[in-house]
Amino acid sequence: MTTIESLNRCDAAGFADTLRGIYEHSPWIAERAAARRPFVSLAALKLALQDIVDAAAPDELLALLRAHPELAGKAAIAGQLTPESRGEQTSSGLDRCSPDEYARLQELNAQYNERFGFPFILAVKGPTGCGLTRPAIIDTFARRLQNQPADELAEALRQVHRIAEIRLNGLLGAEPALGALVMDWAEQLGAISDDATGLTCAYMTPAHQRTAARIADWMRGAGMRVHIDAVGNVVGRYAAATAGAPVLITGSHYDTVRDGGKYDGRLGILLPIALVRALHGRGERLPYELEVVAFSEEEGVRFRSTFLGSSALAGSFDPALLDALDADGVSLRAALEAAGHDPAAIPAIARERASLLGFVEVHIEQGPVLLERGLPLGVVSAIAGSSRYLVELTGAAGHAGTTPMHLRRDAAAAAAEIVLLVERRCSGHGALVGTVGQLEVPGGSVNVIPGACRLSLDIRAGDDALRLAAVDEILAGVKTICTRRGIDHRLWKLLEADAAPCAPRLMDALGESIERAGLPRFDLPSGAGHDAMRMAQLTDVAMLFVRCGNGGISHNRLETMSADDAEIAAQVLLDFLHTVK
Ligand SMILES: [Zn+2]
Repeated sequence: MTTIESLNRCDAAGFADTLRGIYEHSPWIAERAAARRPFVSLAALKLALQDIVDAAAPDELLALLRAHPELAGKAAIAGQLTPESRGEQTSSGLDRCSPDEYARLQELNAQYNERFGFPFILAVKGPTGCGLTRPAIIDTFARRLQNQPADELAEALRQVHRIAEIRLNGLLGAEPALGALVMDWAEQLGAISDDATGLTCAYMTPAHQRTAARIADWMRGAGMRVHIDAVGNVVGRYAAATAGAPVLITGSHYDTVRDGGKYDGRLGILLPIALVRALHGRGERLPYELEVVAFSEEEGVRFRSTFLGSSALAGSFDPALLDALDADGVSLRAALEAAGHDPAAIPAIARERASLLGFVEVHIEQGPVLLERGLPLGVVSAIAGSSRYLVELTGAAGHAGTTPMHLRRDAAAAAAEIVLLVERRCSGHGALVGTVGQLEVPGGSVNVIPGACRLSLDIRAGDDALRLAAVDEILAGVKTICTRRGIDHRLWKLLEADAAPCAPRLMDALGESIERAGLPRFDLPSGAGHDAMRMAQLTDVAMLFVRCGNGGISHNRLETMSADDAEIAAQVLLDFLHTVK
């Protein structure tokens, strides 16, 4: 049987020969990887193979892509596929297409080849390794046909690596069992929704309460003591080896945005439950109480008040929020009471700082950084702080035909300069990002010079000084632009939130666990808010980011990740739990 040890031990020719089928008709990849031995883990081997492809010449990459057969294409029909490809295409039922599906695939194959110059490549075994359905394959095919060529080239190569990953798992008999369990649970929770189509799990709705009950069941089954607290958090405790031990908290949120993804939040709940289940199964206790908290609310969908669950633990729950109303006029208080909760008990949820070792949150990245770098995991350095403003510009409306260009006070032209200023000022600073997400000409018409324009500014960075310096410069720039153009401007600050830095000792512990798994440590800030932000008011926090597929899309039904990434995240979190102090 092939193992990492046997691959490390054999001669270079034997190594290349064993890995011959991993990359389609491209033995050079394994040949070059032989010199990089020894590999400490399967993850390290996968990464080395990927690095070799990344470093290859453009014509080698094109040859690698072109070595792949079309899906249900001529080679498949003529029985000319490699055994690996044949098995994969058969497992997803591509050999049993209906005449319509077959015709559609041929049409897509032709359009794709014409547009990109190589065949469409998709790991048809999918993110779980169990196989995509034919409709899912056809949808993905049609969607990727719309990609820009450079993006699609990168995506095709990622699919090549995913195919290689699944083939390597088969060769080495490596089953991502914990990852597969987490993916399966996420799928089950994803089916509990407020909507008939897509996944919506808003605070205290029937779907939300059913989701909580299901999570509580899994926690109990994993050997935890479980309760659902007054704000709807599902709290599972895995007892320490000794009484009176400190507490380490991990977890994330189970509510979702409208038509959201299955892994946002839930990954950080399900992964530790799967680990506790494994620990409990072998009778192993940790030197601290491990608390897994499924936070009831983070997204702010129903009451526009975010972080309800984690702020209750952190002791910063604002009781005034109980009077907030949803779109149907139901108050937060009434929603809680209808679900059987006692709002008066919320303050008692707050935890004692002294008993805590810290808080660690696993979360899907919700962005493309890890995906672009080809890394499954990253250590979050800080959760970005943000500054938000609304800017109102007032110029002079005038006739689009009769007013000469030099006599205009065009509010939209000033806004356009501001948009570009934000883009320019925030580019090239790594963790600094700036966005104008709202831009409107109120009551504008095609033949009128815009007399007014409204726009928003959203500036974020993991480093407060970096963000505030950018905000100062952008606001000064807005003033300069408006003065020069004879535009009046008014400014409203909507939000100013400081960054929540992660604790270096916990970041280092996560980083060391990642390195022990055979992967490089990579630190990145989180541009999105997370429960860890609120928990940082209470204790030291850290976050482990897991790679997001599909270009890094999140808050969307296309959000995806793989069972293998869930598996490596589980291994790393377990190592962290074993070593953290
Ligand atoms: Zn989230």
